[in-house]
Amino acid sequence: MKIKELLQSDRVTVSCEIFPPKAGADISRIDAIVQKIAALHPNFISVTYGAGGSTSKRTLEIATKIQNTYHIPALAHLTCVSSTKEDISSMLDKMKENGIENILALRGDIPQDSDFPSPVQYHYASELIQDIKAQGDFCIGGACYPEGHVECEHKEDDIDFLKRKVDCGCDFLTTQMFFDNNVLYHFLYRVLSKKINVPIVAGVMPVINSRQIKRSCELSGTALPPRFKAIADKFSDKPKAMKQAGIAYATEQIIDLISNGVNHIHLYTMNNPEIAAEIMGNLSAIIRDEEV
Ligand code: FAD
Repeated sequence: MKIKELLQSDRVTVSCEIFPPKAGADISRIDAIVQKIAALHPNFISVTYGAGGSTSKRTLEIATKIQNTYHIPALAHLTCVSSTKEDISSMLDKMKENGIENILALRGDIPQDSDFPSPVQYHYASELIQDIKAQGDFCIGGACYPEGHVECEHKEDDIDFLKRKVDCGCDFLTTQMFFDNNVLYHFLYRVLSKKINVPIVAGVMPVINSRQIKRSCELSGTALPPRFKAIADKFSDKPKAMKQAGIAYATEQIIDLISNGVNHIHLYTMNNPEIAAEIMGNLSAIIRDEEV
């Protein structure tokens, strides 16, 4: 099933994310994680792609298993920063052979020691999207950044490039994590003002390790609002308390999003089915739209 069809409806959707193990690592652990996440019945499961290419085969393998074994739509990520156009073309053929219909098309982070871009490489995700579009009947997602992408000096330019990316054939967008919903609401106004009309899936990161999150926020340019920072500081040395507070924060964030009409939520599950299960349990009546 194409994810754009799921996102057309006003019903709440919740998706989860899996990242493949490193090459050589035990695949049975990820099988168990996929099984537990599938048991939560998310609307789709996305599978990340190592920009360096090291885990790329695993992305396809796991995405195929999600569809064939659990009958849940899979969203296979695909980055182009370390690939030639030929590599991408052959990966798209393999995706077609395996029945993968949904691709999250990304550039990936530029490796520090590379001579990027070489003449045979892609510069931006928009070029990848054009090629995917030309090579098959895929549903294509793209990434967006409510606080602006770190490389882009001016947010206005970032939104203009986003518009260009969508015009190249994006069917939906998924956001980078954010911890202040007002940041997302302001972004949605700016997106609408540029006539970007595709569905936007809000990426929510449940935080269970405060040090790790501070580091990844620094790298991605994501702001930590004072309310969240107080929690992260208070519980940084108390893993159980941090986990509980992180789950409560993400739950509240999602309730606020859904209450304000943001119906499509992507949980950055970080291969942690227990956290996803707790959050989805907290929201059970909300996400299943139950009459009480
Ligand atoms: P692009 O859309 O190409 O944008 C990159 C930069 O170029 C931006 O600053 C943009 O403003 C600028 N730009 C775009 N077009 C132009 C233009 N025409 N001229 C000048 N500047 C331009 N990384 C992984 O390695 N694997 C994953 O699986 C993965 N999954 C992700 C999932 C989500 C939901 C998100 C939000 C990010 C993910 N990433 C992943 C990280 C992503 O690869 C990085 O953020 C990367 O630096 C940018 O990728 P992009 O596709 O957004 O790039």
